[in-house]
Amino acid sequence: MKNPLMRKSIIVAMISLLCFGIFATMYTNYLSRNLFDETNQFLKDTTIQTAIAVKNKMNENITQLQTIALMIQETQINKEDLFDYLSQLALKNGEKRFGIADINGDVITSDQQTFNIANRQYFQDSLNGQNRISHPIQDYVDGKYINVCSVPVYNQNNEVIAVLFATFSTDKLSYILSSATYNDVGYSFIFDDKGNVILSSTLNTEFLDINDISQGILDNIDAQGNGILTFIDENQTQNYLIYANVEDTDWLVASVFAQEAATGKIQTFVRTAFITWLIIGCGSALLISYVYFIQRKNKMQITKLAYIDPITEHDNFNKFLEDCQKNHHLSQYVLVNCDIKGFKWFNEIYGEEIANKLLKTVILCMKENCHDDELYCRQQADHFVMLLRKENHGDLQTRLLNLAHYIRSQFLNKQITSQYYFYFSLYDIDNDNIDIHVAFKKTQYVKKELKELSKDDVIFYQESFFQEGLYAQQIEKDFQDALDHSHFQVYIQPKVELDTGTVHCGEALARWHHPKHGTISPGTFIPIYEKNGMLEILDAFVLEKVLQKLSYWKEHYHKEISISINVSRTYLFNEGYVDQFIELIESYPIHTSQIEIEITETTALNHKEELIVILNKLKKHHFRISLDDFGSGYSSLNMLKDFPIDVVKIDQEFFRTNAYTHTRSHIIIEEVIELCHKLNIIVVAEGVENIEQRDFLVDHHCDYIQGYYYYKPMPINEFEDLFVKETDR
Ligand code: C2E
Ligand code: CA
Ligand code: CA
Repeated sequence: MKNPLMRKSIIVAMISLLCFGIFATMYTNYLSRNLFDETNQFLKDTTIQTAIAVKNKMNENITQLQTIALMIQETQINKEDLFDYLSQLALKNGEKRFGIADINGDVITSDQQTFNIANRQYFQDSLNGQNRISHPIQDYVDGKYINVCSVPVYNQNNEVIAVLFATFSTDKLSYILSSATYNDVGYSFIFDDKGNVILSSTLNTEFLDINDISQGILDNIDAQGNGILTFIDENQTQNYLIYANVEDTDWLVASVFAQEAATGKIQTFVRTAFITWLIIGCGSALLISYVYFIQRKNKMQITKLAYIDPITEHDNFNKFLEDCQKNHHLSQYVLVNCDIKGFKWFNEIYGEEIANKLLKTVILCMKENCHDDELYCRQQADHFVMLLRKENHGDLQTRLLNLAHYIRSQFLNKQITSQYYFYFSLYDIDNDNIDIHVAFKKTQYVKKELKELSKDDVIFYQESFFQEGLYAQQIEKDFQDALDHSHFQVYIQPKVELDTGTVHCGEALARWHHPKHGTISPGTFIPIYEKNGMLEILDAFVLEKVLQKLSYWKEHYHKEISISINVSRTYLFNEGYVDQFIELIESYPIHTSQIEIEITETTALNHKEELIVILNKLKKHHFRISLDDFGSGYSSLNMLKDFPIDVVKIDQEFFRTNAYTHTRSHIIIEEVIELCHKLNIIVVAEGVENIEQRDFLVDHHCDYIQGYYYYKPMPINEFEDLFVKETDR
């Protein structure tokens, strides 16, 4: 059977069935043994009762005879009266007759019969002073079977002068045995210790010797006790013989009947009980195996959920962590955290199926690349972890770079035109007992150090990364506190219009005056907040401050100052973000054209179509759009062609030159200015620090300068004092 769970369930069913079978057998054995014991006891008891009844009956007869004998001895009763009395007594008590025999055996009976019993054994015994009850003998009168009770009759000298006897028809006497025939299922009889049958419940006594029933049976009988024997009769029927001694005699009462009659019902009952148990057993076995099946199936599903990654169908991170903790030589390994740079848009651009296929390919390639003791899994999204054997850093780097190449070679897909790269962050485990979570956390600190270059990269953890990570965490933690305590402030860096030499616009920049760390540069905290989403809050704070000031300036100084604000690319594309942005600004009594939105080139890089839609929407509401840091990244002249841009801000880097780049930079700036002007785009030069740079820009008709040469960013109130109030005076 292919399904191992099914196989196990069947085994469980069979084991359950076996257990039930054994139990049912033991139970029915116990039941039948008990029932048989009880039946045997009942049979014995009945026979013993019958033996007691027989003894009582015999004693009664003998006592009666002894009483009459004593009467004869004592009272000299005349013969006629005596026989009258005896015949009446016989009539009343059911004896066939009474009789008195003289010492020669000549008999006179109550029914006027005369015969001689000299050769009868009972006569001889009673003549010798014994009370006797004879075996069945044939009546001298009518040839029928009789039993005779006899007692001696003494004279005054205590000499036996006669024998008094009572004759019973055997068939009439046999009623005392009726209770031992068990409703005529069997028959019963009385026999003596020599095996001679004395009285039988059957009308015609077919046997006169117990050995006629079964040869040698007498040898097995305890003549003074009771018991049960079994024997097979001539009809090959198994029979019971239950016997019990009649107290103070050498007689035994016996019952015989076919075993079948006594135990047939028990056997049927036991068989029914066994079958019932077996049916219950089968049902229970099926139920148990079904419950087992369902339980195991659920457990397997839960295990799968808990330990299997649904996308790669390989171990998930939980399983990876567990397996790591089972390894007691962790210091011989390196923990690798691997990210796919550029995967972010795979789902959206190529669809989930292809994106998942790449993730699967990564796992398959890792599988091929790893030794048996090494581990690997998808941690989440496009992140993977591996536990690899330690090698020197160079070899490990080569191994991982080769792995990256191999993955790319295995994932060949004509549709995929996007580049993707593998960033490996490694932590050299130095302690067998390390908590693997801690090691993983360290690889995450490495990630923050990756320069995001367009190539595969392998970086090893250094302790300084951790410190920087801690600092970043601290910065994250302090964010809300800084907002609440106004540690964030809005600075404005004025932009000088070169034609007029005046300032009527500026760029809003955030400043953080940290109570412990002093002023923190936006270059430090902006990238951190951009990643965790806090930048949206900070930008909203800056924007509101700016809007409040612009409204104030308009109301009090009737000045429509223009301020540019930086908008982060990470949430510009968020659903509803732009609408909320527009709504907020329009709720202030200023003109939307006073707000200039600075977007960076990288914003435009990936979502050109969406960005055009967004910018057009902003344009429709008369916002000004400025392309920040122009020339710093992958600028494409197409951007100038496709986007509705009002302003280009030439990146500061063009002014950070050396002997070689100086002239070339100037040529580029010159051309950019000319190009922009032809496209009706205003040009702002950022990062201008000296007169030489300023003069060059003036010569080439740059429109605005934003740089330390003129002004550094200043608190918004200072900007107000210098350029809003002042111009109003
Ligand atoms: P950016 O938008 O390019 O801003 C111009 C940066 O150049 C500012 O740095 C400014 O102080 C600096 N700068 C201007 N003139 C000169 C100069 O002559 N020499 C030199 N060396 N630097 C000059 P800052 O304020 O440190 O801001 C750094 C970046 O942080 C900004 O670059 C901007 O991208 C971002 N940023 C600052 N404030 C905010 C904000 O409120 N929101 C967002 N989203 N980003 C902000
Ligand atoms: Ca800017
Ligand atoms: Ca800039």
